[in-house]
Amino acid sequence: MSRLDHFINRMVSQRACLDHAIAQTATLGGPVFELGLGNGRTYHHMAENMPDRAIYVFERAVASHPQSTPPDDMLILGDVHDTLVQALERFGSTASLIHADLGGHNPAKNDAFAKAISPLVEPLLAKGGLMVASDRMYFDGLTEQALPSDAVPNSCFIYG
Ligand code: SAM
Repeated sequence: MSRLDHFINRMVSQRACLDHAIAQTATLGGPVFELGLGNGRTYHHMAENMPDRAIYVFERAVASHPQSTPPDDMLILGDVHDTLVQALERFGSTASLIHADLGGHNPAKNDAFAKAISPLVEPLLAKGGLMVASDRMYFDGLTEQALPSDAVPNSCFIYG
């Protein structure tokens, strides 16, 4: 598979999994967390499709497109190893939807990173909430969910 194929699969799956999770969690009242703003494409998609839900964005250095930059009061700046711990104190287990796209181009590093943050992410999710991740996560109490039919297996993961 070419890098272009891989990239397209990842983008198609990211949107399919997000749309699925947005619909499945629509009746939950808790906040939404976007982990990794980057260019802001997925944040923009989430904001467009969840205009009435509070979306907090975790990022260490904002470098997003101007149209995809969250307001200051919805930005949680810093390393997620620290800010996820602080978020548990602030929000408790209330997040209705958590999306994580924190990785780079090195699969081994992405896997190690996913292992390290999984125990920090897991307690933030509300009962009935869903987590969408670009990398396989390592949760004790959450289980991997079936992907929507338009997602490509192993390009995106859903836990709940
Ligand atoms: N989903 C985004 C989009 O659609 O544009 C792309 C996200 S990009 C692949 C990953 C982002 O995660 C980068 O902006 C990077 O700064 C952020 N990131 C990576 N490691 C982080 C960490 N330890 N703490 C906070 N942010 C981090």
